[in-house]
Amino acid sequence: MTTSEQTPTQISVHDHIAKRGVKFPAPAIPYAEGHGDNAQTLVFAATEEPFAIVPNADGEAVEAAVAKARAAFDHGPWRKMLATERAAIMRRISDLVRENLEELASLQTLETSIPLQQTRGMHVGRTAENFTFFADVLASLAGESYEQSGRYLSVVTREPVGVALLISPWNAPLVLASMKLAAAISLGNSVIIKPSEYAPLAVLRLIELVHEAGVPEGVVQVICGPGAGAGQALVRHPDVDVVGFIGGTETGKRILADAAQSLKKVGLELGGKSANIILASADLERAIDGSLLGVFAGNGEQCLAGSRIMVEDSIADEFIEKFSARVRGMIVGDPFDDATEIGPMAFAAHYHRLLEFAAKAQDDESYRVLAGAGAASGFDKGYYFAPTAVEAADNMTDLCQQELFGPFVTIQRIKDLDDGLRRANESDFGLAAYVWTDHVPSMMKARRELRAGTIWVNTPMTRDLRSPFGGYKQSGIGRDGLPGSIELFTEEKTTLIPQDPLALPKLGQH
Ligand code: NDP
Repeated sequence: MTTSEQTPTQISVHDHIAKRGVKFPAPAIPYAEGHGDNAQTLVFAATEEPFAIVPNADGEAVEAAVAKARAAFDHGPWRKMLATERAAIMRRISDLVRENLEELASLQTLETSIPLQQTRGMHVGRTAENFTFFADVLASLAGESYEQSGRYLSVVTREPVGVALLISPWNAPLVLASMKLAAAISLGNSVIIKPSEYAPLAVLRLIELVHEAGVPEGVVQVICGPGAGAGQALVRHPDVDVVGFIGGTETGKRILADAAQSLKKVGLELGGKSANIILASADLERAIDGSLLGVFAGNGEQCLAGSRIMVEDSIADEFIEKFSARVRGMIVGDPFDDATEIGPMAFAAHYHRLLEFAAKAQDDESYRVLAGAGAASGFDKGYYFAPTAVEAADNMTDLCQQELFGPFVTIQRIKDLDDGLRRANESDFGLAAYVWTDHVPSMMKARRELRAGTIWVNTPMTRDLRSPFGGYKQSGIGRDGLPGSIELFTEEKTTLIPQDPLALPKLGQH
């Protein structure tokens, strides 16, 4: 817990690893001096201690992985298996994920510093669900057929696309990589996952479980290494057929351009700067609880964070006072401590970027700091950033327009709903939006007018895997969930068959 009177004990990463019996999945190894050439060193954000090394895949490894994935797709059993057999293996993966909950949660917390109670309570469970969900989808996939003028039967079927490259970010690697993985393999594709170089461990362990469950050799592989190296080589590879990318908007644009060279299918789940409109007609206590979760869950490092709060003038003073007090009261600490609400930021460069935005909030008179805006106090080491709330005079300021991706929220006062809707849409992003009101016509108007892929009304974020999730504008192209995942990971094929022998004209016979 951090307050200036308390100095938290900073527990060494090696003690956490020993206490929790964590083993690193291959090819990761425990950190040792001198093993760092062409490898990524993972650092525990709470103490800045290096703890694991993950070798980067070189060009040869990329070629070998693509060749193996291609062979598994073209000649292997996976895509030809009965849907019921594939679905059974998907369910087995889900069971194994649940059986290894503690281990997966520990790895995820070590590499991301998302509090363990969240990786244990939400991330691993969602990961398991992703596999059962797509097992069910597989069992209920339907085709289409048309009778044309009574002469032809046109049958429309879906087939897997081929080799799918899945690229995932560092903030929630298990949930995000497994969502795309479950969709892609359930539909019969071969997959190569490129996790973020900052957080590959939990994904590597997941893939061991995928193999243990019976997914054949070559169908799922992981390639580790920096995005600009292994990642780019994979995106450009002509034998990769489809790219499912989750990450930042600028990277997404590069990937789209690279993938265009061989005209691959591409799905992009990108950044956000979601508006959170709170009207005077809202239940204020619930709006405060929900808005706090909407920004600060997952250390605030979430694409769908409701990080642009807009509150109606008549309740703004009360909201700001209560909300800011709660932000100041948040428990910042070691991510393995069950009391911790906000862990340290995942890695140094990200932390320093947030400190720069905090300095801007302190120095620029467009802002009024309500809570935080700097390093969290009381820590000798670690990338601890104080949960931050800042009142902003204008929606077009930097802090309201840029995705900060941390425990950092701006609050604007709005005249009324229309003012809120105008500002909410004044953004390059359009991933999600939140609105809090008990007035049904306002709810309906917000739902119609907000330009975002998901609208949450009177709730913090929640997902229904059956419904589409994705972004308007520069927040992405395509959708996760249904039917977007099926669109991305399958090709449609039309087969036309005459129902009776055709009387064809005899060309050349006169
Ligand atoms: P980045 O865009 O930096 O990286 C995402 C992934 O892409 C990483 O695996 C990265 O590898 C890889 N990568 C980077 N450059 C290339 C390239 N040229 N070719 C191929 N792969 C590349 O995002 P972050 O990891 O920093 O994640 C944060 C971002 O992700 C935020 O903008 C957030 O909003 C977004 N996000 C979106 C979600 C959504 O559903 N819309 C969900 C979660 C996050 P490496 O890290 O090794 O460089």
